Amino acid sequence: MTAPELRDAILRHLTYSLGKDAGTATVYDWRLALSYAVRDRIVDPWFASTKAAYAKQSKRVYYLSMEFLIGRLLEDAIVNIGLLDEAGEAMNALGQDLTTVMLDEPDAALGNGGLGRLAACFLESLSTIGTPAYGYGIRYEHGLFKQSFFEGRQQEAPEEWLQQVHTWEFERPEAAFQIGFGGSVKEQGGRMLWSPDEAVVATAHDTPIIGWRGRWANTLRLWEARAVHGFDLGAFNRGDYFGAAEPEASARTISRVLYPDDTTEDGKRLRLKQEYFFTAASLRDVVRRFDSEYDDLSLLPQKVAIQLNDTHPAIAGPELVRILHDEKGMALDTAIETARGCLNYTNHTLLPEALERWSEGLMGDLLPRHMDLIRKIDEVHAKEYPARTVAMVENGDVKMGELAFTMASHVNGVSALHTELMKETVFQELHALHPERIVNQTNGVTPRRWVLSANPRLSSLVSGKIGMNWVDDLEQLKELEPLAEDSGFRGDYDTAKRSNKAELSNWFAKTHGVKLDPEAMFDVQIKRIHEYKRQHLNILEAIALWQEIHDDPNGDWTPRVKIFGGKAAPGYYFAKEIIYLINSVAEVLNNDPVTSKYLKVVYPPNYNVSLAEQLIPAADLSEQISTAGKEASGTGNMKFALNGALTIGTLDGANVEICDLVGPDNFFLFGMTEPQVVARRADPEHAANAIAADPRLARAIEAIRNGAFSGGDAERFKPIADDLSGKDYFLVCSDFTDYWRAQREVDAAYRDSDTWTRMAVLNTARSGWFSSDRTIRGYMSDVWRASSALA
Ligand SMILES: *Cc1c(COP(=O)(O)O)cnc(C)c1O
Repeated sequence: MTAPELRDAILRHLTYSLGKDAGTATVYDWRLALSYAVRDRIVDPWFASTKAAYAKQSKRVYYLSMEFLIGRLLEDAIVNIGLLDEAGEAMNALGQDLTTVMLDEPDAALGNGGLGRLAACFLESLSTIGTPAYGYGIRYEHGLFKQSFFEGRQQEAPEEWLQQVHTWEFERPEAAFQIGFGGSVKEQGGRMLWSPDEAVVATAHDTPIIGWRGRWANTLRLWEARAVHGFDLGAFNRGDYFGAAEPEASARTISRVLYPDDTTEDGKRLRLKQEYFFTAASLRDVVRRFDSEYDDLSLLPQKVAIQLNDTHPAIAGPELVRILHDEKGMALDTAIETARGCLNYTNHTLLPEALERWSEGLMGDLLPRHMDLIRKIDEVHAKEYPARTVAMVENGDVKMGELAFTMASHVNGVSALHTELMKETVFQELHALHPERIVNQTNGVTPRRWVLSANPRLSSLVSGKIGMNWVDDLEQLKELEPLAEDSGFRGDYDTAKRSNKAELSNWFAKTHGVKLDPEAMFDVQIKRIHEYKRQHLNILEAIALWQEIHDDPNGDWTPRVKIFGGKAAPGYYFAKEIIYLINSVAEVLNNDPVTSKYLKVVYPPNYNVSLAEQLIPAADLSEQISTAGKEASGTGNMKFALNGALTIGTLDGANVEICDLVGPDNFFLFGMTEPQVVARRADPEHAANAIAADPRLARAIEAIRNGAFSGGDAERFKPIADDLSGKDYFLVCSDFTDYWRAQREVDAAYRDSDTWTRMAVLNTARSGWFSSDRTIRGYMSDVWRASSALA
């Protein structure tokens, strides 16, 4: 398609789809018109992909995830169908700026963080590779809350992405299933039949996900909950207007909001309803599609691979058994085997508070037949493995991790370290019984979004040297390695980074009224706020550094800007205290005439995918400082390394593999290892001892305690100071001294700009393995036994 053709298509949509005149059209109108014109280019390859998958009788991959943290879609689509230049020209010809129009799109924020973003990267990689696949999730009316700060504290407002026309989806009123809850189970003609006493309708909304080069498109199918009988006319006619709308309002509650918490199980009935709702609708869709092609259910595991992204869809095990056994009449043992043949489970966390459990009471009340089947599956498993002591139901709770494991062919961790810890801790006994089941699939990120689109300066530099094939064969970045020794290339690489930093500085000045010196080191920690991620370790180091600069204001300090970003779960008290502390420290430091030229702290609110795309290409230093053993993988760490930020990090999650690949000389490693963490925690005096041994640390905590960041109010941050000097479960104090040491090495390295750039180039060159294409190929061969349908 040429630019003039695209321009005409945009104008056509503006006029005939939107009913707008070019003379009065707003940026919003132009965005919609452009989106429709681009979408038109995706529909044909999308249909062709669906037809090819049918014609080849391909095995299909079904990715079930409670979250898809997608971000914007327009640029992704334009880039993947290769129309970026044409779109720019076409918009120019229409008197519009493409970037402005693309930035008008709200993020689809149907996820909390890493887990949801992984699902989004996987969808894009599946399409790039050409694997027939569907993503299944919930079409939340309100995605992750909007964060703002009021006097330093986090405020939450509902997110309203669907208030605007969502151009990418197609509603499918014909693809609808009734999903039941509650009721009872009765025997009928030898079969157990569940009669729910409540039902909602799941309706499908499809978004095409186009892969790189536009060769293949898969579908993201999101379910919306509607009432079976939407409107009670009787009630309306009696004048009961609220009552008339009640069934619809009540049903819609299920797809109303994303639970704003990815680490703790909140125990709400609605959450379990959401999980069953989307899992059941998805499985019915899978079985319907299978039935339309095959008439032998024993083929199911050959044709269907279902991936459970964490335990949220773990009810898929009993639900599939229920369909096969109760509805299709398959023998129970066979039904269990067949279901297991299709199902696989990805574990995302070892944090005990994040492992889902549902009380038998709630499960039995909401899903009585599933509760029966869970007990039956447990019995069958116990009979087969008499040595087993861990039951799926324990102390009145159904343990979803055990259920997911028992009903899966493969269980995977998301980094080498996490997978090993999984074998040693949460699934120790199940692993001993099923030693073949656990496999590792280290996470990855899509290079199309996280390098090509997000960092055009770096991308064109790279493509100028090694051509464009790195975009879908990311390990080709290796070819840049010799260029680390080429001073001309280093100069260009450095220029690209500096321009990214200057652009970010301008944005900060315009939107937040802060002036940042682009010459200063940009030190970035962006991720959910959580004690295990240790944003408080980072801010503690900032406090200590601030104090040290005061001791020697004429010292030779390396200017630094610490950039934070991230949301705290609204009910997570301590995480919100950390946010408050960071903002309070920023207030003092940024207004300090002595130190502010050397050290600033900024915290732009509402961290999301789009903000990440803006911050990561401008980062010099990537903070990956979790307590060893707590971060399952991380994917932010990979985005940074690819974009040439050096990592300061612990041996945790995929940091271990990053450090290995880029080389320890190009990585600022610090802190205790996982076994050292376990040993240190056993000493009840660990925090007190660490503080006693490091006067710098003692002074920084003292400043928090005595009100240096709260106008002298010693009460305000007492909980943080008390935690640090008391329990300090995440060992901030014990790792502080080594963190400080590593940070001073970072300072020294940054002052030698040439050496720093050499290290950065090597980070880019050696991080190609972290493409989600590699991860998906790993799942395809080790877990799904699926192949690409592209010739
Ligand atoms: C990549 C990403 C994450 C995950 O970051 P981690 O540092 O791995 O926790 C979370 N949120 C957004 C918006 C992301 O883009």
